[in-house]
Amino acid sequence: RAKAEGRSTWRFFEREMDAELQARRAMEIDLRAALDRGELELFYQPFVDVARQRMSGFEALMRWRHPTKGFVSPAEFIPVAEECGLIHAMGAWALETACGQAAEWPEDLAVSVNLSPVQFKKPGLADDVERALVASGLAPQRLQLEVTESLLLQDSASVIATLNGFRDRGVGISMDDFGTGYSSLGYLNRFPFDKIKIDQSFVRTIEANESRAIIRAVIGLSRALDITVIGEGVETREQRDALVSEGCTEMQGYYFSKPRPANELAQVLIEFERRHEVAGGLEPDRA
Ligand code: C2E
Ligand code: MG
Ligand code: MG
Ligand code: MG
Repeated sequence: RAKAEGRSTWRFFEREMDAELQARRAMEIDLRAALDRGELELFYQPFVDVARQRMSGFEALMRWRHPTKGFVSPAEFIPVAEECGLIHAMGAWALETACGQAAEWPEDLAVSVNLSPVQFKKPGLADDVERALVASGLAPQRLQLEVTESLLLQDSASVIATLNGFRDRGVGISMDDFGTGYSSLGYLNRFPFDKIKIDQSFVRTIEANESRAIIRAVIGLSRALDITVIGEGVETREQRDALVSEGCTEMQGYYFSKPRPANELAQVLIEFERRHEVAGGLEPDRA
């Protein structure tokens, strides 16, 4: 009986696996078509310099406007794209689109583009970046590339060479989601970062002593290494104030603005300035 039960459990498991695999395959086919049909879009979320009371740039966040399912989250489709290799074409598209759109913005605004570690596994990433810069005419100093800690576990000689190439070109490099991966403080001076983004899981719990101690340590270290710290996922005035009191003045989060479509960015900037004038300090975003 136990054997029979085991067998049926296994069958059930097999069916589940099949269903999941098929769903992935289906999404892969859809995603390939999505890129060709122009269903991918970049939304933008500002990062704010609270000390200077200005928006200093926008991070490009990919959106998939699916014809029947509505918006599909990047958390769902990026892993599929990474697995089937589509991430290379999608990544090149994101670089080209983000640089092209940013070239239309006021010149004091930067644009930040997320890179998957998978994009570093194939030669051609540096060419993609170069092509995006040349085609758009965007000053390289206005482009920031975001990588995560998992990248640093890959073949480090080639990763370092690629990152150094970006830096030599004048492009900035941010470490995204800092503190969630295999954080090694040694990474911070072995790789040419100019920004660290403290993961939102720390910001969300900044009231807790442990999170605050970690944030404080990261800020102290970054200052010594001349790296700018950005607090991610700021949702409340309390979180903003706590970061400021720790000496972190660059921030991003729903408190300031959610990611918005490219054609709404002028409005985002206007609203930001208006909230300043009214409040003499920043009120939460109500959009
Ligand atoms: P990320 O780069 O760390 O981006 C931050 C994520 O947190 C975004 O989710 C953003 O919408 C969300 N967020 C920002 N502020 C807040 C806040 O105050 N509260 C909360 N709860 N969330 C906030 P999104 O847009 O769903 O993107 C998820 C992840 O997908 C990104 O994390 C990034 O790793 C990846 N991703 C997005 N676009 C791209 C892309 O073009 N290429 C690659 N390779 N990855 C991308
Ligand atoms: Mg990011
Ligand atoms: Mg992040
Ligand atoms: Mg993230």
